[in-house]
Amino acid sequence: MSRYGIISDIHGNAHALRAVYEKLGALEVDRIVCLGDIVGYGPSPTKCLDLVLSYCHEIIKGNHDEAILDPDLGRYFNSSAMLALNWTREQLSAYHLHAISHMKTRIRLGDSLLLVHDTPVLHDSAYIHQLQHAIEAFDGLEKGICLHGHTHLPTVFCATPDGEVTMKLLADGESVTLSPENKYLCNPGSVGQPRDGDSRASYAVLEHTSPDAEAIFTLYRTEYDIAGAQNEMHAVGLPAALAERLGRGT
Ligand code: ZN
Repeated sequence: MSRYGIISDIHGNAHALRAVYEKLGALEVDRIVCLGDIVGYGPSPTKCLDLVLSYCHEIIKGNHDEAILDPDLGRYFNSSAMLALNWTREQLSAYHLHAISHMKTRIRLGDSLLLVHDTPVLHDSAYIHQLQHAIEAFDGLEKGICLHGHTHLPTVFCATPDGEVTMKLLADGESVTLSPENKYLCNPGSVGQPRDGDSRASYAVLEHTSPDAEAIFTLYRTEYDIAGAQNEMHAVGLPAALAERLGRGT
């Protein structure tokens, strides 16, 4: 059996990422999978990239990572995200840009695991918040489990063989057993900018054996030094609204 630590949407928050790594170490995961958006919004993009490149076995490129390389994509961002994006780009070295450019947007692990940032539907970047979005996203997943991020919400969507789709928002310590007959979209929530009203960093562990066996997806939350992250954001001149939202978890 493999125990995967699943992290996503770190967004330049090294305080949160270090806290999550510590917990994943204690949970004795075999490998760590990062589902993208390593940078953007937060004050420590280079530290976060270094930590992800050092400790993650699989790394997906998110839309904020991609927008570092292609500023044109930033036109879809709101003004504070755009400011943070431009500031982040100035902090990165040629090494970091090179590393981002080599990240993939889609990785298959064996027969039953697919890693993406947003949705399994090719050439789409939808946010899977609700049942309707999940119904459309399941069209892009032939079978098995898709691990994704992007919404910053810890969710599991399930599609049964007869087409019934259900949604579950996960709380700290909550597990979902994943049956090999169904298809699943599993989101570990956001390490560095949670948006479900819980300001604690969010991450997950997937226990997985083979495509024909049940798997278990467990969501965890951990406290981290939010004030430390906010102070750094103020110190480097990032928009105050981005610092405030960390305290609210929105
Ligand atoms: Zn994100």
